[in-house]
Amino acid sequence: MMKYLYFHRDSERGVKGTFEWLTDEVEELGEALQGEDKEATEKEFADVIAWLSSLANLLGIDLEKAALNKYPHLCPKCKKAPCECTF
Ligand SMILES: [Zn+2]
Repeated sequence: MMKYLYFHRDSERGVKGTFEWLTDEVEELGEALQGEDKEATEKEFADVIAWLSSLANLLGIDLEKAALNKYPHLCPKCKKAPCECTF
């Protein structure tokens, strides 16, 4: 969806500029976590995943596939679900 909506604009901005937007949004999420406004926090989560998706799209990376390859419904370290790794 993000590719359909924004790929043309993301392409003009480029990887560096898009990464900077992502880091700004992560900072905003951090600020939202300091408060107690769940709706605002939810919106910041949406912004982070949107910009992460835009960055992945620019690099030709399928974010869902990448996540499932690394985390195939079990922990990549202990191979259990739920994870049983010790801290
Ligand atoms: Zn584990």
